[in-house]
Amino acid sequence: MEKNSKSVQNGKNSPEVVVENSDASQGLRDLFVDALRDIYWAEKALTKALPKMIKNATSEELISALEEHLEVTQQQVTKVEQVFEMLGEKAQAKKCEAMEGLIKEAGEIMEATEKGVVRDAGIILAGQKVEHYEIATYGTLRSFAKILGEDKAASLLKEILNEEKDADVKLSAISDSINVAAVHEHA
Ligand code: FE
Ligand code: FE
Ligand code: ZN
Ligand code: FE
Repeated sequence: MEKNSKSVQNGKNSPEVVVENSDASQGLRDLFVDALRDIYWAEKALTKALPKMIKNATSEELISALEEHLEVTQQQVTKVEQVFEMLGEKAQAKKCEAMEGLIKEAGEIMEATEKGVVRDAGIILAGQKVEHYEIATYGTLRSFAKILGEDKAASLLKEILNEEKDADVKLSAISDSINVAAVHEHA
């Protein structure tokens, strides 16, 4: 990253005020670390929520996709810890209100549906909301890391971002057949 200093001219005759880059970027860095704590909490919460979704699913294809993503999610917890380490920060979780809400919604959807294709369609709905939240988060975290000159962190965040995108694409593909089956389910 370029170590630029920003020059600010305070009127005609006043001396030049030099804003050091480290000071100027501190606010964004704090926001970055805070958002990392949030997604760290979210990933850990998902390692507990996914098994419940797996238990409720019936489609073999959906079950195996969720099982695979559970494993990926467990590895993401470790990857996020590595990002903290790259930043010289202690890995610390901060409750993510949004993920708590999305997980709660997944539970409500499962309660409101009969076990079978319709509940499977609901699990995909809830799962894709989760993936989209993660895609938005990691996309932003990755650009924060890049602009802050944290290149190693940026590439690891990009790796996680791609895993979330893969999960979303896979769920979309599975939903094609499940939704067709669900529309014929009149129970
Ligand atoms: Fe994740
Ligand atoms: Fe959050
Ligand atoms: Zn979406
Ligand atoms: Fe995910």
